[in-house]
Amino acid sequence: MSFDETLVRERSLWLDGLPGRIEPRPALAGDADCDVAIVGGGFTGLWTAYCLLDLDPSLRVRLVEREICGFGASGRNGGWISAGIAGVHETWAERSGEDAVRRAERATWEAVDWIGERAAAEGIDCGFAKGGILSIARSEAQAERIRAHVEHDRQWGWGEEDSRILSPYETESRVTASDVVCASYSPHGARVNPARLARGLADAVERKGGVIHEQTAARFIEPGRVVTDHGTIRAAHVVRATEAFTVQLPGQHRTYLPLYSLMIATEPLPSTVWQALGWEGRETISDGHHLFFYAQRTTDDRIAIGGRGAPYGLGSPVDPRYERHDGVRERLTRTLYDTFPAVRGARITHHWGGALGVPRDWCMTVQHDPTTGLAFAGGYSGHGVAAASLSGRTLADLILRRDTDLTAMPWVGHPLRPWEPEPLRWVASRAIVGIMGSSDRVEDRGGQTARRMRIIRPFLAH
Ligand SMILES: Cc1cc2nc3c(=O)[nH]c(=O)nc-3n(C[C@H](O)[C@H](O)[C@H](O)COP(=O)(O)OP(=O)(O)OC[C@H]3O[C@@H](n4cnc5c(N)ncnc54)[C@H](O)[C@@H]3O)c2cc1C
Repeated sequence: MSFDETLVRERSLWLDGLPGRIEPRPALAGDADCDVAIVGGGFTGLWTAYCLLDLDPSLRVRLVEREICGFGASGRNGGWISAGIAGVHETWAERSGEDAVRRAERATWEAVDWIGERAAAEGIDCGFAKGGILSIARSEAQAERIRAHVEHDRQWGWGEEDSRILSPYETESRVTASDVVCASYSPHGARVNPARLARGLADAVERKGGVIHEQTAARFIEPGRVVTDHGTIRAAHVVRATEAFTVQLPGQHRTYLPLYSLMIATEPLPSTVWQALGWEGRETISDGHHLFFYAQRTTDDRIAIGGRGAPYGLGSPVDPRYERHDGVRERLTRTLYDTFPAVRGARITHHWGGALGVPRDWCMTVQHDPTTGLAFAGGYSGHGVAAASLSGRTLADLILRRDTDLTAMPWVGHPLRPWEPEPLRWVASRAIVGIMGSSDRVEDRGGQTARRMRIIRPFLAH
């Protein structure tokens, strides 16, 4: 099948903005042998290849990608390199103890800087800017949640330098938003253009001697081999790095809930709007809704803003049909204009989405079986930009049998419990989105929602 660049560019603002022509790398041409075969050219697969070759330049590493590197969630996301463990601290603590959770949280903070340093070292022009994370509460109910979040940080031992509450006045000094009750600020976050990072990383892997085959779909992933339509790759180690797409592989349909997150972006905004808005610090910004938004000021002075809420389809849960949704587009546009009145009337130029992988307990995993050589990582539950870099580093250590701080992290070997079979997973997903959305509407009118949120709690953790 011939390559259609338009179909790639329309997948996100970031893919659309890639400079020059997008030329896919040559597909696999017949059988091949190597030391490590990786399936999936998103952040997990690319960082794994990059770190393996960094540690051992003599390794023969091949990566197969069905479309082009960065086609999946890695080229479509909100570009938040946000610290924080994917999963619930208390769930992790039950398994690994509180100290391990603290070490893991710190590792995610360091991951933010590590990505920026590696991007700079590799000359990847991806707009990395470490402005921290600002979460704005625009109702009393949201403020309660945001205060509880900071209080939770205190209970885990993090100080004011890691997260703190801002008054409306302090918030205003960062960004002009309407109806601010309070906000929280954490320095542990950066914004990035994710497609440029993914594409730049693929180039870096090749510079280090890795071989990337795009337009090459894996049909089966087994110990010792990856079977594709273009040939079979035999390898001592095989890494599955397909996050939400994993559910399309044989026997994996209950591994994750593929949760769609959708985004919109404005046209580049004029300096008059930015003078009214502020946002000089390039913070990533969210709100305290259950279906919260996440936004960034892009390098070309747009606002890219995303949120959940797209319905999940029964039967074929990963499908391009779910990447756009009029209702979500309207909700995001309304949220954007309501929150930042200076932006009202700005043209929305892009709308896109993608699936992220949510495990049954919302806790990410990194696994390598030294006996079979099979490895995989994912289930970042929306924290994948930072977490996938940790996975890549960890998988490289595990494959090379290096005992490091990363191989002792709680997510290493964390078992994945399968989701309920359909239609229960479908019901769960509809309930999560439906109840969160209705709770937000009740809270926006000044009501309380604790009761209805209790209904979906069993699906949100454990
Ligand atoms: C709209 C959206 C917004 C998000 N926002 C953020 C955010 O701001 N911050 C954050 O931390 N996380 C965010 N996430 C989540 C984050 O993007 C993902 O968790 C992360 O990118 C996953 O990386 P990955 O490499 O594991 O998977 P992916 O990036 O999805 O890569 C998997 C790759 O595997 C390929 N593939 C699939 N099947 C096959 C096959 N059979 N053979 C060969 N190749 C195959 C796919 O084409 C794809 O390129 C967001 C996700 C979405 C969709």
